[in-house]
Amino acid sequence: MKYIGAHVSAAGGVDQAVIRAHELEATAFALFTKNQRQWRAAPLSDESISAFRAACEKYHFTSAQILPHDSYLINLGHPVSEALEKSREAFLDEMQRCQQLGLSLLNFHPGSHLHQIAEEDCLKRIAESINIVLDKTQGVTAVIENTAGQGSNLGFDFQHLATIIEHVEDKSRVGVCIDTCHAFAAGYDLRSEDACAATFAAFEEQVGFNYLRGMHLNDAKSAFDSRVDRHDSLGVGNIGEAAFSWIMKDARFDGIPLILETVNPDIWKDEIAWLKGQQQN
Ligand SMILES: [Zn+2]
Ligand SMILES: [Zn+2]
Repeated sequence: MKYIGAHVSAAGGVDQAVIRAHELEATAFALFTKNQRQWRAAPLSDESISAFRAACEKYHFTSAQILPHDSYLINLGHPVSEALEKSREAFLDEMQRCQQLGLSLLNFHPGSHLHQIAEEDCLKRIAESINIVLDKTQGVTAVIENTAGQGSNLGFDFQHLATIIEHVEDKSRVGVCIDTCHAFAAGYDLRSEDACAATFAAFEEQVGFNYLRGMHLNDAKSAFDSRVDRHDSLGVGNIGEAAFSWIMKDARFDGIPLILETVNPDIWKDEIAWLKGQQQN
């Protein structure tokens, strides 16, 4: 069973995200549980928590179909200790919000070394951040997203994801989300079925499908191996539609949220319908 949806707006309250996903005829969705560009947010009220839970029940979304995303400000591998502390506190708050909402996953970008510490040290800091936060929460899995490798962002190489996981103590609550645009921009080819097979064979070997907790399905405006993160609508970017059709037919992508972060929300409903159709074709 494939769970397919998009990263919908939570404007007006987290329960509104559920309604927007339902209107798209989605079977999955992503959301921010707070403003993604601010450090602080008011705690979730009991009313908004129960409205969210009620909407999920009404529209048949289980936690396995929902992939919340954390704030863009958080850097769990920050080289400066005060800033690292601030990020860890904010990430803990994000995990706690997910726990309150009955969610089981939290998707985040691993972190950046800012050219101040070595890659390996940064990866270890990220793993330590995950350990600290997992220790203080229950039931929510930390889902590391691969990146395009812009600037000093780590996570563009599958080996980075494997190294972080290696240093996480509770391996039952760590996973990964693969963003197709990011992978392509980081030098993992997806332009043909053979290229997809080779890229995901490398993923299986270095990380393992047992850690795959979600996917971001985005075509790429950015060029192959450009290390630039620019999403495009499915089939019109440099990846092309074959990769997305291939993913929809492969059972290794069953049972996890498959989320569009494509550039035109007006066609999400069509993109979701097209993806659903690819399963049978
Ligand atoms: Zn993404
Ligand atoms: Zn991106």
